[in-house]
Amino acid sequence: MSFSSILGQDKTVKRLRALVETGRIPPAIIFHGAPGTGKFLAALEFAKALNCSHAAHMEKTPAPGPADEDLFSAPGPAAMPAPEPAPAQVSQDPSDSCGACLSCLQARSGAHPDIRVVDTAFQAALLDEAESANLKIDTMRELTRWAQQKPMLSPWKIFIVRDAEALMPQAQNALLKTLEEPPPGTLVILTVSRKTSLLSTILSRCCMIEFSLLPRMVLKAILEAQGAEPGQSEALAALGGGSLEKAAEAGAFLKRIQALHPEDTARVFKFSAGLPRDSHRAREEVKTLLDLLLARTRSAWRSAEGASKAKLAALLRRTLELRRMVNRNVSYALILETALLESERAGIKLEDLIEDGIKK
Ligand SMILES: [Zn+2]
Repeated sequence: MSFSSILGQDKTVKRLRALVETGRIPPAIIFHGAPGTGKFLAALEFAKALNCSHAAHMEKTPAPGPADEDLFSAPGPAAMPAPEPAPAQVSQDPSDSCGACLSCLQARSGAHPDIRVVDTAFQAALLDEAESANLKIDTMRELTRWAQQKPMLSPWKIFIVRDAEALMPQAQNALLKTLEEPPPGTLVILTVSRKTSLLSTILSRCCMIEFSLLPRMVLKAILEAQGAEPGQSEALAALGGGSLEKAAEAGAFLKRIQALHPEDTARVFKFSAGLPRDSHRAREEVKTLLDLLLARTRSAWRSAEGASKAKLAALLRRTLELRRMVNRNVSYALILETALLESERAGIKLEDLIEDGIKK
C-alpha cells in the first residue's frame, strides 16, 4: 500500500506527495472532508511516506532447529542451509513510501514506535475504561507528554488524531499547547469532517488539506474491491453520495431490511431495534436513514399530483423536523420509528429507501 491506495483524491494526494518530497512539513495539519472520503487512510500513508527509509529490510529467518525437522525423513537438500536471499527491489520514489523498509513494515502492522493513532479505542486502552464518544483532556495530556520525547527511530514523530470532532473543548485546549510550541520533528494530523467542532485557536494553528466527495465510479470500484456485487455496488455508490462510510451504512441497512418479513407488522420496530448501542453511532445511523427517507420522499413528491402531492409535502416537512431533532438529546430509536411509521402511512415503505436505488 502507498499513496496509490487512495482513490478519487488526486489533487490532495499530489499535494501530500509534494510535501513529502520537499520535506517542508507544517507541524499541524487538518485533513478535512466528509466521512468516508479517505482522510484517515491518507493520514496513515502520509505518515508512512514521511518516515520511510527506502532501505530494504532483511527479515532474519531463524535457523531450523531439530523440532522443526521431520524426524522420519532422510536428510536431503532441504537440510542444507538456504542461500542468502537476493536484496529486494525497493521503490526509491522520494514522494511515497517503499512498503519494504523496516519503518514501512512497522507502520503496516500498526506497531510503528513513532506513528501513533489517537482515537476513542486507543483512549479506552490508555485510560483503562470503556470506550467513550469523546476524546478527553487526559488523553491529550499524554499526547503532549509523548510529543516532547524524541522520535525513536524515524525522522518524524507523528500523531494522527482520528475523528477530531470527538475532542472536548478542554481536550482541544490541552492539545493547543503542543500546536503552539511544536517540538522539532513532531507532526500532529487531525482528521475531521466538521471543522466547526474545532476551536478557532486550533484551526488557526493548522494547515488545512481538503478531501472532496468521492466520484460515484470510484466509490463503486472500492465497494466491488471490498466484495460487493456489481449490481448492488452501483446502487450503494449512488446512496453513498460520495462517502464510502455512507455507502457501507446503506449496505448494512439493506441487509437488515432484507432479513425482515415484508408482512411483519412489527418490522419498523424490529428494524430500529437493530440500531447500534453506542449513542454516537446510533445518531449517525438515524441521520443517514432520515436522509435516505428525505431523498425518497422528495423524488416521490416531484412526480405526485393533487392530494397525494400535498400529503408528501406534509411528510417532507415532518421528516425535516425529525431530522433536526436528532441533534438534541432525544431517543434516536423513537425518532426513527416515528419517521418510518409516518412514511409508511404516506405510502413509502421501509424497503423503498434502499431497494429503489437498486432498481435504478
Ligand atoms: Zn519504506
